[in-house]
Amino acid sequence: MSRRHGRPWRRAAALSALVAVVGCAVSLGVAAVLHRDERAAADVQMDRRTAAVVTAVQAETRRYVDTLRTTAAAIGAQQTLTAAEYATLTAPLHQMRLAGATSITLVVPATDGEVAEVQRTWRDRGVQDLTLQPQGTGQHAFAVLVQVLDNGPSGRAGRPGLDVMQAAAPAAALAESRRSQQVAVSDTYQLLVDRALPAAQRQNSFVLAAPVFQGVGQNFLGWLLFGVRGQDFMGATLRAAGAELTGLLLEADEAGGRAVTVATIRNHPGRPADLERAVAVPVAGSTWTLRLTADRDELPGGRTVLPVAVAGGGACLTLLLTVLVWVLATGRERARAQVEAATGELSAEQAETGRQAVLLRAVLDNISDGVAVVGPDGRFLLDNPAARSILGQAEPPDGGAETWYEHFGLYQADGVTPYPGDRMPLSLALAGENVDHVEMVVRNGAHPDGRVISVAARPIDTVAGRHGAVAVFHDITERKRVETELRGFAGVVAHDLKAPLTLVSAYAELVAEALADLAGGAGAPTLEQARRGTAKVLHGAGRMQRLINELLDYTAARDATLRVERLSLRALVDDVVVTRTDAPDEEPDARPDVFVGPLPEVCADPVLLRQVIDNLVGNAIKYTPPGRAARIDITARTEEDGEVRVRIADRGIGIPDGEHAAVFDSFHRASNGTAHPGTGLGLAICRRIVERHGGHIDAGPNPGGGTIFSFTLPGVAAGIRTENRGSSKDLRTGTTADAGRG
Ligand code: ADP
Repeated sequence: MSRRHGRPWRRAAALSALVAVVGCAVSLGVAAVLHRDERAAADVQMDRRTAAVVTAVQAETRRYVDTLRTTAAAIGAQQTLTAAEYATLTAPLHQMRLAGATSITLVVPATDGEVAEVQRTWRDRGVQDLTLQPQGTGQHAFAVLVQVLDNGPSGRAGRPGLDVMQAAAPAAALAESRRSQQVAVSDTYQLLVDRALPAAQRQNSFVLAAPVFQGVGQNFLGWLLFGVRGQDFMGATLRAAGAELTGLLLEADEAGGRAVTVATIRNHPGRPADLERAVAVPVAGSTWTLRLTADRDELPGGRTVLPVAVAGGGACLTLLLTVLVWVLATGRERARAQVEAATGELSAEQAETGRQAVLLRAVLDNISDGVAVVGPDGRFLLDNPAARSILGQAEPPDGGAETWYEHFGLYQADGVTPYPGDRMPLSLALAGENVDHVEMVVRNGAHPDGRVISVAARPIDTVAGRHGAVAVFHDITERKRVETELRGFAGVVAHDLKAPLTLVSAYAELVAEALADLAGGAGAPTLEQARRGTAKVLHGAGRMQRLINELLDYTAARDATLRVERLSLRALVDDVVVTRTDAPDEEPDARPDVFVGPLPEVCADPVLLRQVIDNLVGNAIKYTPPGRAARIDITARTEEDGEVRVRIADRGIGIPDGEHAAVFDSFHRASNGTAHPGTGLGLAICRRIVERHGGHIDAGPNPGGGTIFSFTLPGVAAGIRTENRGSSKDLRTGTTADAGRG
């Protein structure tokens, strides 16, 4: 493809690429926005779930704290707390489904010195087998009343008599609650009762400690302790509140910045946890941390097929759009290429058609045959110069075939009967006939003498139907003339040969008879008879020989190759005159008197020109009355146009009026000359030769008697003219055989 065409294709490619890039970018952009919205939605969901879990954890811890505080208040309200009252007050806790709560224990303080007193007091109040087990020295805190809430894996938990101070975490909680007079939570630690369990079953536990103030004076009685196993405590709460999360972790922030797991839940192990939240949760004066993780995709609205669908759909649409743009953009180019190809072919066809039309026109213009084409309605569509020349009309007729007779002057072969329109060759061809060799005569202003033409016509038929008809015609006038001449020629030749032949045979018989008589002894008369017969035979044979020679000359004059050269007319005439007049046996008085004037040089075929002059001089001598010497003047002059006019004038018997032109026809013998031997071909030969030299010959009366023959030849200056170009000049008379003499 050319560079001119390359650019639009590149433009189409660039356009398609642009559509593809923009389409993909928009699709991916929308998908990204949707994906971002999904992430935001997941974050919102995560925040909501985090808040829900926090709320649940806080509510649950508050329930424990409130329970503990309420119970502590109830215990503090007792005048003298006994074991039985304690059991009664704490019994409802069994129904409260306090998960992870192992026991609720009343712990009382005692110094080393008070241990025995405290033990006795609480034995008195119903804890009969109470044996306090102080650890170390100083301040102790003994569990004196224990209500077991959960017979966990360690069996009976929280035995009375244990010194809580032996464990640092609960001891710190006791101190804190007493100081703040609020419920305090301890750091996690292994419950004393759990220490016997296998490591895997041990849980991080803590205690909630509430101070117990008794009586109106609000005397500090001790602490009410909730022993709680962390996992059991929060596991259910976390599981219920965070079912859609992958991980929930409740950490207690302990002294020294240590984070200890209180409870942990792992849902859907193996799933990615790409969302995290860490929230501080206040628990009984302390702060725990709730750590939540979730799989973004599992949260409602966190992951939908929308972005993928949008991206995929957008990509598909982009692809379709790209293909569409490409097809449309290149389609235009393809259409343009097809149009250009078609236009190119059309142009080539047009050029070829034009070339053929020019060729056809040139052929029509240059052929010698006339061509005429008519349409289906008979009106002329086309003709050529030859047609116009042959028909003698430059303009085509206005009407159909019925007008042609008048327009062209068309007659039937007889030359007088108008040619009927419906019988015209073109009319017949329009009717579907093939017409050949129809002869008609054209006679009009251009051809007043009439021309004979031969016409052939054909219908012009194609698969689409009849388009008209075409006629081809040519001028056969000359051919017809030659044919006529030949017919006359043959008749004359037959007649002229027959006469001497009859004579020859008759006299040959006479000679034969005479010879027979001689053989029989006859005398001189018979011999004379035989001699005359032989002379007649020779005469007849001579006539036949002459006729045959002249026929040959006539043929040569017509067909022999013209060999034109510059020659001396004078030398040629002298040669003829000498030959014609130098007869030794002729009487001196009968010798022709020939005057030859100054003669120029001419351009002619010497052999043929000699024949012309010899014929004319011979006739001048022959057609002189017997007993008189022929007088012949041969003169010439160069005309203005360079031609040389030669005149041969005699004082002979002359040619009868009205026959001066006819004597040049072949076999024509004038009425005056029949007494002289001859064939009537001599002057026809002369005319033929002169015309082949481009000249003209004619004859006229010589004033005072006799005949003047005059012919033209190309002079040296004029050169040779083309054969057959005859002169149209008239014969100039007035020069006599005497006139040029002297
Ligand atoms: P031919 O002489 O053989 O008859 P030509 O063609 O030479 O034929 O001449 C044709 C006729 O013209 C002659 O028969 C004669 O009648 C006439 N003619 C020719 N030349 C002359 C002449 N010089 N004088 C009178 N008549 C002539």
